[in-house]
Amino acid sequence: MNSKPQSDRRGRVTLVGAGPGDPELMTLKAVRTLASADVILFDNLVAPEILDFARREARTMLVGKSGHGPSCRQDDINALMVRLATSGKHVVRLKGGDPMVFGRAGEEISACRAAGIPVEVIPGVTAAQGAAARLCASLTHRDHARRLQYVTGHDRSGALPDLDWTSLADPFVTTVVYMPARTLAALAAKAIEAGLDPATPAVAVARATRPDEEVVVATMATLPALVADRSPPGPVLVMIGRAMAEAALDTHVSTNEKASARAAMTAAISAVQRAKAK
Ligand code: SAH
Repeated sequence: MNSKPQSDRRGRVTLVGAGPGDPELMTLKAVRTLASADVILFDNLVAPEILDFARREARTMLVGKSGHGPSCRQDDINALMVRLATSGKHVVRLKGGDPMVFGRAGEEISACRAAGIPVEVIPGVTAAQGAAARLCASLTHRDHARRLQYVTGHDRSGALPDLDWTSLADPFVTTVVYMPARTLAALAAKAIEAGLDPATPAVAVARATRPDEEVVVATMATLPALVADRSPPGPVLVMIGRAMAEAALDTHVSTNEKASARAAMTAAISAVQRAKAK
C-alpha cells in the first residue's frame, strides 16, 4: 500500500567479524548489526551461539567454507550477496574472526562495488588474538620477538604456499600459521631447513576461545606429529616463536598429558632460557 516501489529500496552489505568463538568477544557494533540484519550469510567458522544475536526475523544461511569438505564457491557467495542486496535487503556477511584476515573480504567488497552496492566492514577479534589472550602470551614480548607475522598454511590448491622461509627462521619473530592442518609437517621441515632452531616453542590451539578449546604445547620439531596424532576437530592455528615459551609456563592452560609432549615443552622452555642467558 504505502510501501515504496522496489526500485527505491536500497540494500546494502555489511561484512561483520564474529570473532574466534566466544560470543562475548564480538564488538558492540557487530551485535547491533546482527540485530538489524534482514539476511545473514555465515561461515562454518561462526560459532552457533553467535547467531543467537540475530534479529528474530532475519533469514540465516550457511554458506560453507571450511577448508575441507564441500563448500560454496566464492563466486556463488558473491552473487547471492549482491542479489539479496539488490532486492533491498540489508545483508550481513558474518565471518569467523576478522573479515580482513584470510577471509576473502577483498573479493566480496569488489563484487559489491562492481554492483554499486554500499558496503561496510565491522572488524572482529582474529583467531590469533583470541588464542594469544587465552594463552596469556604476548605475541611481541620484548625479550623474544621484534616482529609478528600471520601466514597461511595453504594456497589456492590446498598445498603449502611458497612462504618467505628466511623470515620464518628468524629467531626473533612470532609466526602465526592460519590453516596449518594439512601442511604443518612440510612447513616445519622447510622452516628448520632454512635455519629455524628445531627447539623453538610451537603451540597449536584448536577451537580457541570456545568452551572445548584444546592446546598442544611442543617445539617446532615435535608439534607436527602431536597435532597429526590428535587431529583435533574444528579450526586450529599454530603459533611459533620464543614468545610462546611464556605460554608453556602458564599452566592455566591444560597441556598434553603425554610424556613426550611434556618433554618437548621442557625443552622449549630451556631453549628460551638459554637464549635469554646469552
Ligand atoms: N578471518 C579468520 C580467519 C579465517 S581463515 C580470523 O580472523 O580468525 C580460517 C583459519 O582461521 C582456520 O583454519 C584456523 O587456522 C583459524 N581459526 C579461525 N578460528 C579459529 C579458532 N577459534 N581457533 C583456532 N583457529 C582458528
